[in-house]
Amino acid sequence: MSRVAAVTGAARGIGLAIARELMADGWSVAACDILEDPLRQRAEELGEAFRPFVLDVTDEDQVGKTAREIRDSMGPVTGLVNNAGITRDTLMMRMGRADWDAVINVNLTGAFLMSKALSRGMMRARSGSIVNISSVVALLGGAGQVNYAASKAGLLGLTRSLCRELGARGIRVNAIAPGFIETEMTAELPEEVREGYAERIPLGRMGTPENVAGAVRFLLSDDSQYISGVVLPVDGGLTT
Ligand code: NAD
Repeated sequence: MSRVAAVTGAARGIGLAIARELMADGWSVAACDILEDPLRQRAEELGEAFRPFVLDVTDEDQVGKTAREIRDSMGPVTGLVNNAGITRDTLMMRMGRADWDAVINVNLTGAFLMSKALSRGMMRARSGSIVNISSVVALLGGAGQVNYAASKAGLLGLTRSLCRELGARGIRVNAIAPGFIETEMTAELPEEVREGYAERIPLGRMGTPENVAGAVRFLLSDDSQYISGVVLPVDGGLTT
């Protein structure tokens, strides 16, 4: 029986690359996303090992129901990648409460709800690995991104605390802090901002979703079995 991992935000971008990478490594993936059409399309293309679950990670009832459906239809889940995320960038003085709440809810509360719902089964199995997709913005801050930076820094606190809470149950919890990665999220940025970032990256280029996916595969695998509580930058050297 193949190992089962749940990946949120798996319909596109980094989440989709993570799902593909894990499938290539022998995992079955419970692909969770709020975008129904692209998710179902991906499922048709990718076959059996990519099971679509339409889910809003901010909805506690849906998260609980989906966690049970995944377990019943696919078996015990021992991998979780909290990747779903949104931005609502604007300067603080213009940022409304709704922009703040939306970003904190998806990026931080969503990861809390998913971790809570799925770690129960991992505790029973005394085995599991959770990877939270944070951002270099958690470490550096970002003008116009107080909501996003706070949510991603919050994920680091969640990661380190869960590492301590769940370690004795055989569950590892780590975070990845991607730098500037080419996806639809970053395609929205103005060209001069994109070029400005690239100039500051020691490796001289933006990253690919596959660059992040490789790090996730490692953190879910037994190759990292004594690694927990770390924040791994995947940023071409940007934060050195
Ligand atoms: P993306 O916008 O292409 O993909 C995000 C996915 O999350 C989408 O499929 C979206 O439908 C899904 N999603 C959004 N809200 C959801 C919800 N409430 N419930 C379930 N799914 C939901 O973005 P991406 O660039 O692939 O980013 C993936 C993750 O990586 C995000 O957490 C992002 O913050 C993080 N990240 C991205 C970059 C980058 O440069 N692209 C850098 C650092 C961190």
